[in-house]
Amino acid sequence: MSNVNELTKDQINRYKRHIILPEVGLDGQKKLLGAKVLCIGAGGLGSPISLYLAAAGVGTIGMADVDVVSPSNLQRQVLFGMSTLGEDKVKAAGKRLKDLNPDLKYIEHKTVVNSSNVMDLIKDYDVIVDGTDNFPTRYCVNDACVLQKKPNVYGSIFRFEGMVTVFAPHLTNPDNGEKGPCYRCLYPEPPDPGSVPSCAEGGVLGVICGTIGSLQATEVVKLILGIGRPAIGRLITWSSLDQEFRTFKIRHDAKCPVCGSNPTITKPIDYEQFCGVPILDPKSLEETKREVAEAKGGNGQPPPPSDLDEKGLPKGYPFKPDWEITPREVKSLLDRKDEFVFIDCRLPNEYQITHIEGAKLIPLQQIAQRFGELRGSEEKKVVVHCRSGQRSMQFAQILKQQGFKDVKSMAGGILLWNKDVNPGGPQY
Ligand SMILES: [Zn+2]
Repeated sequence: MSNVNELTKDQINRYKRHIILPEVGLDGQKKLLGAKVLCIGAGGLGSPISLYLAAAGVGTIGMADVDVVSPSNLQRQVLFGMSTLGEDKVKAAGKRLKDLNPDLKYIEHKTVVNSSNVMDLIKDYDVIVDGTDNFPTRYCVNDACVLQKKPNVYGSIFRFEGMVTVFAPHLTNPDNGEKGPCYRCLYPEPPDPGSVPSCAEGGVLGVICGTIGSLQATEVVKLILGIGRPAIGRLITWSSLDQEFRTFKIRHDAKCPVCGSNPTITKPIDYEQFCGVPILDPKSLEETKREVAEAKGGNGQPPPPSDLDEKGLPKGYPFKPDWEITPREVKSLLDRKDEFVFIDCRLPNEYQITHIEGAKLIPLQQIAQRFGELRGSEEKKVVVHCRSGQRSMQFAQILKQQGFKDVKSMAGGILLWNKDVNPGGPQY
């Protein structure tokens, strides 16, 4: 942290509610003004984190994000508004944060965070806050923070729940005097690709970002001021529906590959390969572009789907003919009135947003209870679809295991259907 000169009259006035707290005082406020915090991700968590840190007088805030503001962000990303639709998030965030606090030195990092840039990106900051939504970035940020001995204030959200902790193996767990754990001590292996749905797939209650992001911002401020008991070695989970917080003790793992006694990871690795998923989902980037164009154009006309190949699949799509059928092929089955069993395996609320006439709703979650409805169709042609093609593939696999002869998952799900066969149909 850099030294800060005496506070101006305006600054004393701005921060007087801090300064009268004996635990903060003038010295504490100077520490905040001298601190440099990097927020990775300018999204649901990054919004409250950066807003509160800027308001608190954290002198330097960097934000790393590659996305642009889209209409579906506004349900939770309170940094942005209608006036910044389509703008780079890091740019739009800077305007808002500088308006909130002109003292702020704001640094834009319009980039994905990966092994090639992470070490350089974090090196000038005192505290790193992880507000990302994907596993490759989490492992990447974790490893770089461990290697450079920076506290990593971690938060994540899913549906109605969230969690917070501080990963800092270079600091002491205040509860037991041991080293603090890192993300890998807690999760040595990433989840199987596709086993954990993203917020785009699983949904998220927007307001929970405020709670979890504010808890992260609180930990950052405590670390800078050196007050209180940091959440090192404690994982705090919160369920909004039960309105209940729970605290789990988490411990440093001496065998951890990055922060243990004999580390095998001494520099950033290839995190996309390690996690088996891309950092950026090309589909979501494309969706964002379309959402912004629709919101700005106002006529609801999507841009022509020039990014599809001659079969109506996204260019480069790894189509598996034994397992999949294209939306166009499904359309011809329907047009020809061929006899086949057509199943929509999404949830009823998704069905309400958009559905294909003739498809029977059997949510993947209910397949065991509702199996009886499918008995007798083992020899028939069965087509299953979901939102993007992942759940329907699972559904199809289960049916095949149960002896169904001809089961296909509709590639790309109803999102691709609504692009290629029913253009302009809802994307969600
Ligand atoms: Zn570790």
